Amino acid sequence: MTEPRTEPVRKIRTPIRLDYTMTAGEAQSRFLRQIANGKIFGQRCPECEKVYVPPRGSCPTCGIATRDEVELADQGTVTTFCIVNIPFAGAAVEVPYVCASVLLDGADITLFHLVQEVPVDEVRMGMRVEAVWVPPEERGPTLQSIKHFRPTGEPDAPYDAYKDRM
Ligand SMILES: [Zn+2]
Repeated sequence: MTEPRTEPVRKIRTPIRLDYTMTAGEAQSRFLRQIANGKIFGQRCPECEKVYVPPRGSCPTCGIATRDEVELADQGTVTTFCIVNIPFAGAAVEVPYVCASVLLDGADITLFHLVQEVPVDEVRMGMRVEAVWVPPEERGPTLQSIKHFRPTGEPDAPYDAYKDRM
């Protein structure tokens, strides 16, 4: 007896969800509490003097603790970016939108965040941007206290100013 011919299953649609809990640790907890106050703090390595933001509590290059807190500007330079064209369920922003690595003034590593208030095809490496904060009463210990970054209108930073910190 032969089985009836059936089509192979090529795809299924299924709801999926991933909940997780992150333990911020000492350095990131201080960073997040300052974000809730509308301030951005990094930590400087006492050996190589690199400023890390968000701080992890140690310098991965020197392998030593970083304890010197450094307040950073909420302005910086786009070093790299991508234009997101693929929508996904639960997205807070409509496509297309830009995710960028922003090198805050005074920092040595970049922060990943949205760049908005500019057409996506005008975002570029070297573009100067500033944080747009949510109102003080809505801020909390999360990077969502910064809605996004937007262009400052300043001239672009020269490539040499950020090429070693991408
Ligand atoms: Zn170091």
